[in-house]
Amino acid sequence: QEITIAIDGFSSTGKSTVAKQLAKHLGYVYVDTGAMYRAVTYYAMQNGFIDASNFNVDGLVTDLPKIEIGFKFNPEKGFAEVYLNGENIEKQIRTLEVSSFVSKVAAISEVRKKLVEQQQKMGQDKGIVMDGRDIGTVVFPDAELKLFMTASPETRAERRYNELIERGDNIEYEAVLKNVQERDYIDSNREDSPLVKAEGAIEIDNSKMTLEEQFTKILQLVEV
Ligand code: C5P
Repeated sequence: QEITIAIDGFSSTGKSTVAKQLAKHLGYVYVDTGAMYRAVTYYAMQNGFIDASNFNVDGLVTDLPKIEIGFKFNPEKGFAEVYLNGENIEKQIRTLEVSSFVSKVAAISEVRKKLVEQQQKMGQDKGIVMDGRDIGTVVFPDAELKLFMTASPETRAERRYNELIERGDNIEYEAVLKNVQERDYIDSNREDSPLVKAEGAIEIDNSKMTLEEQFTKILQLVEV
């Protein structure tokens, strides 16, 4: 019997790594909801609605109907990549610049409403692993399995830093740490669907766990 698995937690807690591995193992569909908020942010940047000195919330909200987000499975990578109005933007949305604006965009209620509706449609059929900040609280409050991932801020910043360096970005560890802390603060304190541990969610602190250990533990939870 297929189920819905909701994975929430702070930035860079390794949610997506474990979610992808889990989906692959179970033959489930994996949805990265953070990529959707990043896609809207990328659109806002491309269209002059947000930069270091300006944030035109009304302009972005008016344009929301023009924003079409999709996913397409890339067999080479083994997961679905995100598309904005038909363009693959998987690489563009992972920059520190997008990360620096995304939590502000994600705090806009109209943005959340649009994306939550789409996420609920994508998860209509069971056999789904979805990760984000409000999956167990808002998107699928009835999910059969809810996980809440945590890790120390330093562990998380180090993981994100290594990812960015691997892609060839020229950045400082301190800037990454600051971004992770800022996003956690905004995500936890926004009015609409703040990041909190969902009722019934199982907390996993993976600061000192290997991927293998996390996977084994989560698989045991799926199988009970
Ligand atoms: O998961 P990721 O770090 O890519 O998410 C980027 C940002 O998108 C988060 O910091 C948060 O502001 C927002 N987000 C959200 N709700 C979700 C997923 C992501 O608000 N379900």
